[in-house]
Amino acid sequence: MSKDEYNEGHVRDGMGQASVTLGGELHVQQKDPLTNETWLRLITCPQCGASSGITLEARYQSSVAICPRPSGECGRAWSISHINAFQIRQMLHLATSGQAVALPDPRRVTVSLVPELIEDDLSLVGDPPHDRARNESPDTWSLIAGATFGQHDGPFAVSTGWARELVAWGMLVSGSLYDHLYPPAGGSVVDAHMTQLIVALAIYQASRRNDVPDLSHLHLEHLADELDTERASQLRALRPTSPRRKSGGLRRSDVHRLEHAAPREWDLWHRLAAEVVAVHCESRLRDSDTGDSSRPLAHRVKPWAGQLGSRRLSLARDGALDFTWYQGGNQGHAG
Ligand SMILES: [Zn+2]
Repeated sequence: MSKDEYNEGHVRDGMGQASVTLGGELHVQQKDPLTNETWLRLITCPQCGASSGITLEARYQSSVAICPRPSGECGRAWSISHINAFQIRQMLHLATSGQAVALPDPRRVTVSLVPELIEDDLSLVGDPPHDRARNESPDTWSLIAGATFGQHDGPFAVSTGWARELVAWGMLVSGSLYDHLYPPAGGSVVDAHMTQLIVALAIYQASRRNDVPDLSHLHLEHLADELDTERASQLRALRPTSPRRKSGGLRRSDVHRLEHAAPREWDLWHRLAAEVVAVHCESRLRDSDTGDSSRPLAHRVKPWAGQLGSRRLSLARDGALDFTWYQGGNQGHAG
């Protein structure tokens, strides 16, 4: 379904449906919450005991297993709590890309589904002196942000690394993001690219506005604030600068898209970017809930859990963020 249809009101169901049929049996690790003892449990049909060739299906944030026997014999579907939709979407990706289907980590991204936008012109927009003088000189924030340990690239390059991390996790958790951003589910590569770009612009802007040079300390709420409807229009006009010319800017092609996108295109990208941040905000509330129901949920969470750094959820490349996916091939072409 195209984004035009989405914006014409034919909103896709956003279930993020993914189903994968296992070649053999599947064991999942179980843990006794009292003794921490772990054991492997074989997944079997609760009705007929079949264990081989079970189908796992993800819908929204829930998961079901379906018995391999035909409906006349069994065919029972049951809710399966120890394998989540997040894992099933990754398993389908492994299966369709010809890789061995293993059970991914239940919380961390084992295999990224973020598509790459292939374009001829990957050059970056330069940072003309007159713009710099008119907008702002490299302020203290961007100088410190560029010098912070582990952030050797310009602050916008670091923002793109975090944006990819947030999107890679979000599109596995949210059925709607999966449907819109994952091409085999009908998603668009351009929408996936622009969603990441707008999340990156919001990270950059929120860090600057709140004077947070180490982007991992940025609060998710401050990030969400940049994506509310009123402020988001400022993101469309934002052109990041950097004390280092070569790793600070946008691609020319993205500047063109930001300047010429139809209102419905911009609305879709903005909505998807806001949803990426929203699913992280919801998740960190759940994950860090201390269970003290006498206090409001927002007051029960641990302070660090509200920061961007707590959302480092990728197992790829030893957990290192990818600061090069956006500007990596462009280091010599800024001008
Ligand atoms: Zn059965």
